[in-house]
Amino acid sequence: MAASKSVRRVWALDAPTLTVDCGILMLGTGGEQETIPSPTFLIEHDEGLLVFDSGLATLGAGDPAAAYGEMAAAFRIEFPEAYRLDRQIEALGYTVRDVRRIVLSHMHFDHTGGLDLFPHAQGFIGAGELRYARTPSNLDAAFFREDDIAAAQRIAWNEVPAGYDHDLFGDGSVTLLSLHGHTPGTLGLKLRMPDESTLVLTSDAAHKWDNIDLTIGMPFDVDRPNKNSALQKIKLLATQPGTTIWISHDPSDWAELRAGGSEITSAATLRSRSKDSVPA
Ligand SMILES: [Zn+2]
Repeated sequence: MAASKSVRRVWALDAPTLTVDCGILMLGTGGEQETIPSPTFLIEHDEGLLVFDSGLATLGAGDPAAAYGEMAAAFRIEFPEAYRLDRQIEALGYTVRDVRRIVLSHMHFDHTGGLDLFPHAQGFIGAGELRYARTPSNLDAAFFREDDIAAAQRIAWNEVPAGYDHDLFGDGSVTLLSLHGHTPGTLGLKLRMPDESTLVLTSDAAHKWDNIDLTIGMPFDVDRPNKNSALQKIKLLATQPGTTIWISHDPSDWAELRAGGSEITSAATLRSRSKDSVPA
């Protein structure tokens, strides 16, 4: 039996940003530009380091067009050289080789850019996600980057079936949450923090709090009924005592939950959404 019942440390690393019309984040909205972070979370566990998502491509650090061509301007990507994933990991005293596991929320380009750094890692991804990335529908085909798909093929992946939550270390500290619907295999992450508070990282199962409160998805969700179920699942998780929900792309969550710096020490000291959920 594993000794640990919590993670040791969690960092929300400095994140490049994209600027998008808010209509891309939620159905029925639009007309305003919003600048959103594209995060990577680094997690230290007794069994080694884990990353959740990998942000934008290292090649694009300091020169987003080098990695993304015309999309760099279309998404107004801001990616300072200092935000390179490998450099940030090194600044914390590790190397990318120390990252033993990678959990990928889904294969859209703003999550897969650093996959080429971790060919040695054990990978975890939602079932069907890799297959979909190779043959996406017209709906979201523009959101997959060929080089990242090639990098993904060098990682040994374990697939998490839709509808199944996986206890990564068997000790309750890191749980992969099935939140499929945005893409066929979208995953979130639930972390038990050292003080036993709980932090839920939604990834793109939600983009805004209104998605969750109103059970409304976004235009590029491939499976609307399951996306709505994922939003309801997040809303339920938010009712658990001591639980904080972090929407990966939400700029206000980013500003608020990271106000104390990149290391996230306790979900209990973060604001809890459990008290202000809106009845359906
Ligand atoms: Zn995204």
